[in-house]
Amino acid sequence: MIRLGLIGYPLAHSLSPVLHEAALRSAGIEGLYSLFPVLPGDEKALSRLIGRVRSGELSGLNVTIPHKQATVSLVDELTPTAAAIGAVNTLFVRSGKVIGDNTDAPGFLADLERFTAPPAAALVLGAGGAARAVVYALVAMGCSTLVAARRPERAEELAEQFRGVHPVSLRADALVGLDIDVVINATPVGMTPHIGACPWPAGVDFPPGALVYDLIYSPQDTELTRLARASGLRATTGLGMLVEQAALAFRLWTGCRIPRELLLDAVQQRER
Ligand code: NAP
Repeated sequence: MIRLGLIGYPLAHSLSPVLHEAALRSAGIEGLYSLFPVLPGDEKALSRLIGRVRSGELSGLNVTIPHKQATVSLVDELTPTAAAIGAVNTLFVRSGKVIGDNTDAPGFLADLERFTAPPAAALVLGAGGAARAVVYALVAMGCSTLVAARRPERAEELAEQFRGVHPVSLRADALVGLDIDVVINATPVGMTPHIGACPWPAGVDFPPGALVYDLIYSPQDTELTRLARASGLRATTGLGMLVEQAALAFRLWTGCRIPRELLLDAVQQRER
C-alpha cells in the first residue's frame, strides 16, 4: 500500500487524483492519492508533509499553487531541473533524502513534440511559475524565446536568468509582425470560470503559421485556441502537458510507465 498526494490551495477542482488513481489501477498498485490543502505561507505545514515523505509514510507528493516556489528551500536536494526553474512540483525519496523535482518542464516538452519539431522562436505570455518551466524547456532545446508579461520586470528577470530569452511588451503594438513558430499562453487568462477572456490582444493577427499552445486545461478548449483555429492555425490546450507531468511524477514514485492515452481517458471520462 503506497500513499501519495497533492499539496496546494485550493485543491477542490484538481484533476491530479483522477490521474494518479487511474495510474495506480493501471499499474496494479494498491495505493491512495490524497489532497493536502495547505494555506499560502504555512511553511510549518509544508515542512511537516515533507517530513512524512522523508520518513517513508508518504511515498511521494505533488506540489501546486501556491507552494511550488516555497518548497524549493524545504527539501533536502533539488534536481538540476527544479533548481534551474526555481520551483518544485514533485517530491520523492532517494536514500532517505527528499528530492524536489519539476516535471512541468519535461511534461511540456513531451507534449509539444507531438505538435511540432523543435521551434526556432517562441513567444511566452506570462512570467509566473509555469512560464519559468516552459522557458527552461524552450531554452534547453535552443529556442530563442520572447517573454511578454504585464509586469515587465518579471520578464526581465527571466531574460537575466536564461540565455536566449528576451523581454517584450504585452502591448498590442509590440506583438504585431513577430516571426514566431509557437505562441504559449502561461497566464490564467481564459481559465474556468472566465472562459470568454483571451490573453492575445484583440485586433492583432497571430504570427502566421504559428502553433498556439495554451497551458490552460480547464476548459479543454479556450477562447485563445478557438480564435487561433479560426485564423487557420493549429492550437492546443494544456491537458496533454498535465498528463505528461503526472506520468513522469508517477514514474519517479513507482518506476511504472503509464500510457498517456489511459490518463487522458480517465480525465475525459470524469469531464463527461
Ligand atoms: P502564476 O505563477 O500565478 O503565473 C501567472 C502569470 O500570468 C503571471 O505572470 C501573472 O502576472 C500573469 N497574469 C495573471 N493574470 C493576468 C492577466 N489578467 N493579464 C496578463 N497576465 C496575467 O501561475 P502559473 O502556475 O504559472 O499558472 C499559469 C497557467 O498555467 C494557469 O492557467 C495554470 O492552470 C496553467 N498550468 C498548466 C499546467 C499544465 O500541466 N497544463 C501546469 C502548470 C500551470 P503577475 O505576476 O503580474 O500576476
